[in-house]
Amino acid sequence: MNFDNTYVKLPDTFHQMAKPSSAKLPKLIKLNQELADQLQIDIKSYSQEQKNNLFSGVELFEGSEPVAMAYAGHQFGSFNPKLGDGRAILLGEVISKNGTRYDLHLKGSGLTPFSRRGDGRSGLGPVVREFLVSEAMHAMGVPTTRALSITTTGDRVPRQETQPGASMIRVALGHIRVGTFEYFLCRRDFESVRTLIDYSINRFEPQLVSDEDRDFKFFKTVAYKKLSLVAKWNGLGFIHGVMNTDNTSISGETIDYGPCAFMDIYVHNKVYSSIDQYGRYAFSNQANIALWNLSCLANCFIAVQDNPEQEVEKYRDSFKEFESFYKEELLKVMTSKLGIFNPQASDEVIINDFLKYLEDNQQDFTNSFRKLPETYHQFADLKKRLEDQEESIEQAIELMNSNNPYIIPRNHLIEKAIQMACEEDYSLLNELHEVFKKPFVEQVQYHAYTRPPKPEEIVHQTFCGT
Ligand code: AMP
Ligand code: MG
Repeated sequence: MNFDNTYVKLPDTFHQMAKPSSAKLPKLIKLNQELADQLQIDIKSYSQEQKNNLFSGVELFEGSEPVAMAYAGHQFGSFNPKLGDGRAILLGEVISKNGTRYDLHLKGSGLTPFSRRGDGRSGLGPVVREFLVSEAMHAMGVPTTRALSITTTGDRVPRQETQPGASMIRVALGHIRVGTFEYFLCRRDFESVRTLIDYSINRFEPQLVSDEDRDFKFFKTVAYKKLSLVAKWNGLGFIHGVMNTDNTSISGETIDYGPCAFMDIYVHNKVYSSIDQYGRYAFSNQANIALWNLSCLANCFIAVQDNPEQEVEKYRDSFKEFESFYKEELLKVMTSKLGIFNPQASDEVIINDFLKYLEDNQQDFTNSFRKLPETYHQFADLKKRLEDQEESIEQAIELMNSNNPYIIPRNHLIEKAIQMACEEDYSLLNELHEVFKKPFVEQVQYHAYTRPPKPEEIVHQTFCGT
């Protein structure tokens, strides 16, 4: 593997040395071969024992320099000055086949200096959920961290119910969060905020390095990526569930699949997470929260400018632009789901009418959109809009089908895969992983997986599983 570690070379305040602690009886139960190939991991060169050891962190890949990353974060609006990787470590950065730099992050690898009261471990449940949902998100074209592997540890972890212990390797463009900047700002360590901004620009937007207004422009690219991501979530009925600033990546990827869920029946302000008591992270509030999180990032950027007072106005004004940017992004997402090629502001009425119909009639979000080629004529305004546009109805239907997934990782399916995996039956995990690779293709043999949950299968609440 082609390791080239740069984060570990940043000053000591950015990370703590952390060796993964030994798993009792490590066993590699799932490998994402396609991703492994992309990362140029020569799986065939390892014995089964080496695979078990390497993917669980019992042995280190050659070139790995493991550290736990420091970060802070606003959790449900309250600031926590010290979070950090408490049950994960950065193994290092690898350069993929196409030259992209990726972080390899081992989750559930044992105690780190940031573990606080936690045990640093993970149960198999959250790991299976993250594996399936993040890979499905990737296949649906949503920027996301990805899942390389799952290993079981051979012992059990105490959670709501005890579960088999497990770890996974997560792959991401980066693990720098809004909370990473906040960690240094709250310590008034302006020099480190500056170092982190420079490092981030260099790594994520190198074309800006010699731009006169580079900090501000970089901040705006982070904002655009984040808002366009949330528009994509909303177009799929995805509720992240824990949009704390420590779970807000500056590389624009979906990160942290704790209490996330896809909606079955459409409810505009739907909440699944058991700990989101007041609906802060409700479906309908995700864009507002993204903006709130970006304001936390703006504070960090403003604080290290030569004339912070002068800069405030500029950063504040950019939020007006962000709001209209988000509206446009969402309009693009939603109109393409409806088969409309050239979005106009007036299409918002058609979108909202359709969503209102879904909510009033308790309709399944995903399947109702997918069925539009057969049902669009029942919605007079939509029908007229589609007939009036230049493109043919066939083209409109093609547009619908390439934006409305046939299959999504429904909560009850994930729960079932978890339950089976906990009994060492990985067949559903493997099958769903395959099925989710082609979410827009009608795979009739898997029709059963497109069915909404029966009443007894409905998942009403999700849990962080930490
Ligand atoms: P999360 O809710 O997963 O975003 O985690 C928030 C913080 O809690 C992060 O600093 C995590 O590293 C830490 N954390 C979560 N679960 C554990 C655990 N089992 N042991 C130690 N730290 C944890
Ligand atoms: Mg997190």
